[in-house]
Amino acid sequence: MAETIAVIGAGQMGNGIAHVSAQAGLTVTMIDVSADAVARGKATIEKNIERQVKKGAMDAAAAAATLGRIATTTDIGAVAGASVAIEAATERRDLKLHIFEELDRLAPAGALLATNTSSISITEIAARTKRPADVIGMHFMNPVPMMKLVEVIRGLATTDATAARTVELAKALGKTPVEANDYPGFIANRVLMPMINEAVYCVMEGVGTPAAVDEVMKLGMNHPMGPLALADLIGLDTCAAILDVLHEGLGDPKYRACPLLRKYVAAGWLGRKSGRGFDAYAG
Ligand code: NAD
Repeated sequence: MAETIAVIGAGQMGNGIAHVSAQAGLTVTMIDVSADAVARGKATIEKNIERQVKKGAMDAAAAAATLGRIATTTDIGAVAGASVAIEAATERRDLKLHIFEELDRLAPAGALLATNTSSISITEIAARTKRPADVIGMHFMNPVPMMKLVEVIRGLATTDATAARTVELAKALGKTPVEANDYPGFIANRVLMPMINEAVYCVMEGVGTPAAVDEVMKLGMNHPMGPLALADLIGLDTCAAILDVLHEGLGDPKYRACPLLRKYVAAGWLGRKSGRGFDAYAG
């Protein structure tokens, strides 16, 4: 059965999830809190699809059909018409808990309730609903249209049927699902964030410049992108927030965020989104 998708949040991840869902032929409603936010999300999808057409990766008819499958609204009540809700709102625990109470109240019985959280406990989010068996983590990577991985994270009460349905959906979106259990940072950020943090320590201690650190990891370890360029892409505030979840949740000082990372965040140097991080970005 083809799923009908509601995406909650039209930011960089939400609009990417709406994009790939519509491109896979599914009907999508993208929901955000303001008309401005949904308009920005829709404009980003249009721009990205236009780029795919220019590159010859999609023809004009497919582009028009893809865009035609995406509706937008500021009314979360629209989840009543969806078989799957994928939450991709701001990474704040209180906000996500509230959204899942709303999804529990408004989504039809049997709906799959997924969250794209980078680090917040799936078990805790699920416990806010009367249907924790249907709640799961569906962690897409940034930028969503380009990245193959979807980390599928079970909460304590998530059933095998919910996990199997999520795996099937990820495959239908052209992604490769990998299953993980619910511990702070799951697999992706448990492994990635300590590497990024160590790269920041190398800069702070003068072991190497940001360019040198990134070049070593690209040429020496065959990483397509250096850890500091990747941190700038993710957002340095998001990196610090995920390290805090790892530190608090696992209790090991090895996850403590580097003071230089904190200093950059305090300065408003958040990476690409603010125009300056370990590198400077035009526009
Ligand atoms: P973003 O800031 O680009 O977008 C968040 C959007 O959520 C905003 O448009 C905001 O208006 C909206 N929002 C806030 N409250 C809402 C509500 N009550 N209802 C509907 N929409 C609401 O953030 P992002 O980078 O897209 O991150 C979204 C989620 O994806 C976070 O949980 C984040 O941890 C996760 N994530 C991010 C990345 C990344 O690299 N940035 C990668 C994987 C997962």
